[in-house]
Amino acid sequence: MTWEDNVRRAVPYVAGEQPQRSGMIKLNTNECPYPPAPGVKAALQELDWEALRLYPNTDAAELAEALADYYGIAPEQVFVGVGSDDVLAMSFLTFFHSGRPILFPDVTYSFYDVWANLFGIPYKLCALDEEWHIRPEDYMAVNGGVIFPNPNAPTGVAESLDTVERIVRANQDVVVIVDEAYVDFGAESALPLLKKYENLLVVQTFSKSRGMAGMRIGFAMGSPKLIGYLKNVKFSFNSYTMNYPSQKAGVAAVKDEAYFRLVTQKIMDTRKRAKEEFRRLGFAFPDSMANFLFVTHERIPAGELFAALRKADIYVRHWDKPRISDYLRVTIGTDAEMDRLFAFLRDYLSSN
Ligand code: PMP
Repeated sequence: MTWEDNVRRAVPYVAGEQPQRSGMIKLNTNECPYPPAPGVKAALQELDWEALRLYPNTDAAELAEALADYYGIAPEQVFVGVGSDDVLAMSFLTFFHSGRPILFPDVTYSFYDVWANLFGIPYKLCALDEEWHIRPEDYMAVNGGVIFPNPNAPTGVAESLDTVERIVRANQDVVVIVDEAYVDFGAESALPLLKKYENLLVVQTFSKSRGMAGMRIGFAMGSPKLIGYLKNVKFSFNSYTMNYPSQKAGVAAVKDEAYFRLVTQKIMDTRKRAKEEFRRLGFAFPDSMANFLFVTHERIPAGELFAALRKADIYVRHWDKPRISDYLRVTIGTDAEMDRLFAFLRDYLSSN
């Protein structure tokens, strides 16, 4: 027996690389190409220096209130965490406790099976159809809970509110989590369903549509009862998760709705242009409602393109996994970044 026999072995999630090279184009982790709302800068510049001496508010109450106000729900219906990864991890720990397998798509956010394995939660994968859509019937079997992103990652495919409701309605004896990390780029939120379903948790983030991945702010919305259970687990883990500057910055971001609309619209406009350009270059892709496109080329294998792009300091994401190894996930950047990407691709495809 050695000390190592007592160690919990985990297979960690592998995040997209974060190189910092001047002139590089980073389209690999779905960050926002634009800075946060101007009010965020002001809020950070005006921070109460003395307050850093103190522990922050345990519930991020001011931020939870601002979010409740914005989404028209009660503050007791909001849970704030350190990025939606933190919120989702806490939710797995809290809600998927039955011992029965939880259900999620076979092609989806690759953190779900990492948390399930870490917490010893059994799971079953439900295959997406050929158009990368969820088949709601797959979620009608006995299960210990359901989670899926809407829009899904890395496909970008969105399900209608009707499809989401069918799944929630059929699963009122477990918790259903809809991960809406990318919902602000044109998809329908499940938020209106909160009025009807006590077992629904909607999770969102400031990392994509609010340009604040570096601040680590995520949140969940659900019934007060559901949020109460989530808080009990969080407070059994760490009382002070979100730091004071992030709480202040988050409030300032939520208060600037005009800037939020401007940025999300800009990204949707660039996405439209990018779709046309990819199509012209011989790429196919499912219609995306997210801030990325999931593209496959008619001739050149994705792995080869990925390597060529990387050599040119253009970073996109590629997974050598079943069903998706021929695809690249490309984040929507600024128009100038996309122009450079397309200039490279035009050049590469004409000589290879
Ligand atoms: N959910 C999905 C589907 C994602 O792609 C991501 C981003 N990697 C997250 C959640 C987590 O984002 P964050 O922790 O930055 O809020």
